Amino acid sequence: MSTLRFGQHIIKASAVFLQTELSFALVNRKPVVPGRILNHEVCEHVHVHVLPRKAGDFERNDSVYDELQKHDGQDEDVPSKWRTEEEMATEASILRNQIENS
Ligand code: AMP
Repeated sequence: MSTLRFGQHIIKASAVFLQTELSFALVNRKPVVPGRILNHEVCEHVHVHVLPRKAGDFERNDSVYDELQKHDGQDEDVPSKWRTEEEMATEASILRNQIENS
């Protein structure tokens, strides 16, 4: 299984759904909302979190920021809290197909 470096993390290539010369985009192992993805620039390490929002997904719209702060700090190093490799590969494959067919 091939891997890529993502900052201090090593990620499975199966989690990547889009790759360009200078960047790649991957699904998140612990998404705070469904469809959360990461876009990683391989010049310097810069990454952007993309969170699809839906009306009413949080009672207060800005609660997502509190949730993110809690979520990313909590259990970040606890593998049992992460999605499985298969779940991530499945989501990445769906996104890859959507991009190819758009
Ligand atoms: P940050 O906390 O801004 O450094 O973002 C790192 C993000 O990458 C967190 O949301 C992690 O859950 C996510 N992440 C770390 N390692 C992996 C991985 N192997 N596969 C998918 N997402 C990861």
